[in-house]
Amino acid sequence: MFDSVHQSSPREMIKGIHELLNECDATVTYNGINFDHKHLNAQFLLHKLKPPAPYKTIDLLRTMKGRFKFPSNKLDYITRRLNIGKKTEHQGMELWQKCMAGNKAAWRTMREYNENDVLIMEEVYKAVLPWIKSHPNMNLLSEDRCCSTCGSHSLQKRGNSISSVGTYQRYQCLTCGSWSQSSNTIFGRAKIKAAA
Ligand SMILES: [Zn+2]
Repeated sequence: MFDSVHQSSPREMIKGIHELLNECDATVTYNGINFDHKHLNAQFLLHKLKPPAPYKTIDLLRTMKGRFKFPSNKLDYITRRLNIGKKTEHQGMELWQKCMAGNKAAWRTMREYNENDVLIMEEVYKAVLPWIKSHPNMNLLSEDRCCSTCGSHSLQKRGNSISSVGTYQRYQCLTCGSWSQSSNTIFGRAKIKAAA
């Protein structure tokens, strides 16, 4: 999906995004917490729109910064390094100026640039999926136990996870590789006391 002030009015464009946010469970962004969502909120306020229904935010820049040490966390660097494509090249600020002047060719490049950004970001999401902390729990959408990160039912029991309350069954997802654990203890504190 693509929209811009070249094909819609600013208000129509902002309302379209507001509707999408209203119906989504989660967004996936690259620096969305500090950039995209704040810019959008500012526009919602200016257009007198109420806050959209609450949604979860998966900010891949936070995952890159929090879980890895790369020389750069720029999306272009990361996609090149992981061999999953690269950003569409453009003339820099000149492109924005041409778009503001209503240049059709510039708008075609802008559209291509933005659509490609979403596609390469999706590849980064897939690549770092098992590393994302606090990913929305996919188990809540499934009747039987599945991977809490990707929703796959291909889980393998791999050891136990022990907390101060008890012992839980630990699983690794054979599809995405992320780790999860049972919600119920398999060996609780009461049993530990009884055993002692
Ligand atoms: Zn998984």
